[in-house]
Amino acid sequence: MPNDPRQPPRPRDDWALFLDVDGTLLDIAPRPDAAEVPDGLRESLAAAAAALGGALALVSGRAVADIDRLFAPLRLPASGQHGAELRAAAVSAPAAGVMLLPESALDAVGSAVAGMPGVHVEIKTYAAAVHYRAAPEAGEALRRSLVPVAAATGLALLPGRLVWELRPFGVSKGTAVGAFMAQAPFRGRRPVFIGDDIADEDGFAAARAQGGLGLRVAGYAGEDWPQPATPPSFTGPAAVRAWLADLARLQGSRTAACAT
Ligand SMILES: [Mg+2]
Repeated sequence: MPNDPRQPPRPRDDWALFLDVDGTLLDIAPRPDAAEVPDGLRESLAAAAAALGGALALVSGRAVADIDRLFAPLRLPASGQHGAELRAAAVSAPAAGVMLLPESALDAVGSAVAGMPGVHVEIKTYAAAVHYRAAPEAGEALRRSLVPVAAATGLALLPGRLVWELRPFGVSKGTAVGAFMAQAPFRGRRPVFIGDDIADEDGFAAARAQGGLGLRVAGYAGEDWPQPATPPSFTGPAAVRAWLADLARLQGSRTAACAT
């Protein structure tokens, strides 16, 4: 059923694939440092990247070093911290114009959330995330505490799934897609972005602007978070992983066809 909103398109080997990590490839954990990479996912990602001629990038709110730690020994092209960090080649570097988070911003975030139970602050190099998965009712109080922090530190404050993200203005998952698409092996391919959160909408828009697709992964049933604009194509991370395994098999079938 081509119009079934839960039916993703069949993967093609002329795509450039951009994948969010948490909630897209990995099941959401109580804290980001508790997320686990399921058996077989590294192998599927490596094979999918090979099927796409290397045009597969991870685009996450996590830092690139954290993405590498999770998926080691795999080391894929990656963008971290919502587009603030890019690694198309061997070395990770900030996007143009992005500055390290100043000490004052770290102190201000810490003070803003002090004494709020169930809140976990994740400080990165260019961005910070304030997670409240363990205190879902704290979202609005946190927002009120963080608005002045964002204003004072010159950072953008964005909502996510039980998280508030502070990140530099001028970068996003969309700018990361644009940066990758300007260079080999991404250039000339059709961009396809898969993600589950509000920040991924920028990635979807950038992919669509270049004739590609934005495919959303559904959140948990009953989860109380702002519903993004894009209807879901995947029921959850397990469906994305199964789809990736299909993409990985494109490489295998093509190799087999060549061998005969
Ligand atoms: Mg996500």
